[in-house]
Amino acid sequence: MGSGGTLAGMFCPLCGGAETRVVDSRPADQGAAIRRRRACGACGSRFTTYERAEAVMLVRKRDGRVEPFQTAKVRRGFEFALADRPIDAEALDGMVERVEQAARADGPVIDSDLIGRAVLDELRQSDEVAYLRFASVYKEFQAISDFERELAGLEGE
Ligand SMILES: [Zn+2]
Repeated sequence: MGSGGTLAGMFCPLCGGAETRVVDSRPADQGAAIRRRRACGACGSRFTTYERAEAVMLVRKRDGRVEPFQTAKVRRGFEFALADRPIDAEALDGMVERVEQAARADGPVIDSDLIGRAVLDELRQSDEVAYLRFASVYKEFQAISDFERELAGLEGE
């Protein structure tokens, strides 16, 4: 192996070899990405990879305002609805994950209503009481952000 470069732990797309190394890194897309030239130690091929931040999902609220999607908010919505209900952490994780997936499939800009409905769908399938609890609040407030404000108010009491 030649000197310099780092073992990158990425398989060569041409021969499948594991001994690839980065021979050059430079900014691309005005700094939005890093372009790396990699060389395979097994077959000698060179290939290029790009590293960029995962796309940010945005939520469009009923009043038209847009804010970043926050998994933590979805989780807090579930936790409020399921407060005193028998549900294990794994099941909760699964519900949060499926709502996030539904949002991602619809993104990058998602209507807040879609998230609220996805939460309702999950609750309806898992816990009738929690579903009714969330539905009554949701109908009144229509958006998880407002729901959050309500929750913060409850916590402050
Ligand atoms: Zn190779």
